[in-house]
Amino acid sequence: MPDPRHSPSSINATDTETPETPFGYRHDYPPTLLAVFAHPDDEAFSVGGTLAHYAEKGVRVVLVCATRGEAGKITDPSMTVTDLGAQREQELRNACDALGIPAPIFLDYHDSGRAERVRHDDPLALMNVDVFELETKIRAIIEEVQPQIIVTFDPHGGYGHIDHLQVHRATSAAFFSTGHLPKPPQRLYFTALTHAVAEQIGRFGNDLDPTVYGVSDKSVVVRMDVGRYTDRKKAALAAHGTQMGPESRMGQMPPEQREAMERVFLGGENFSLGGSRASVPRYPLGGLFDGVDFVMYVDD
Ligand SMILES: [Zn+2]
Repeated sequence: MPDPRHSPSSINATDTETPETPFGYRHDYPPTLLAVFAHPDDEAFSVGGTLAHYAEKGVRVVLVCATRGEAGKITDPSMTVTDLGAQREQELRNACDALGIPAPIFLDYHDSGRAERVRHDDPLALMNVDVFELETKIRAIIEEVQPQIIVTFDPHGGYGHIDHLQVHRATSAAFFSTGHLPKPPQRLYFTALTHAVAEQIGRFGNDLDPTVYGVSDKSVVVRMDVGRYTDRKKAALAAHGTQMGPESRMGQMPPEQREAMERVFLGGENFSLGGSRASVPRYPLGGLFDGVDFVMYVDD
């Protein structure tokens, strides 16, 4: 049973003073889920439903986006965009609104790009940044927002984007290196692509070898059934207008293929376990907060 002392309303009731911390967060605002990703739109595909779910439960959801995705491709030729980074920042803000979560924290690095758009010579491109520097920034956020739960990319960076790999490494390092805090993060989860999902995505023409990028079902420690957040997740995806246009991979699919692809992304969101300071009372877990003692009032 949820503990009424910690219900969302009582949390809000205590949230009356102006916070004086670097990112504007109060320390006494449990429970908190920190999600760290690389580009605007990373969150919508892999964890959009999960973030919407926990926000609705009264969990404080803090989304960190390392770049503004400024090296992305504009996939909607009808859009006139002069500053892609600013545009994608706004798209992510709109996507957060659609999911019902607060505005994101940007770490102000640059998108490294892919293929012909790779930014080898940009010192702020995430691939050229010292992982320790990135870890230090993430650690500062952890110290301020004191999340019990951290979510980030898996060791393959989803489909292998170098920025995703950097974020995975730095966030994982930050989880482990904050163990000395009075209230250290309790669990680290990775967004997991199962073999079955990777196979389905591969069938739609993406060069995603399921034996490399997929994980076995046995590695899935939490499967979030997010079907009831389909509308919000679709709205969040649609908010990323530059990326979801008619020239995007999704946009170029025939309708029946697109629907099948949407079913893959909208039905459930899977997580593997990257680390835990709390005991794991069952496997798989009932939710991201399952077994995390001091936030047991989160009804997963
Ligand atoms: Zn990305």
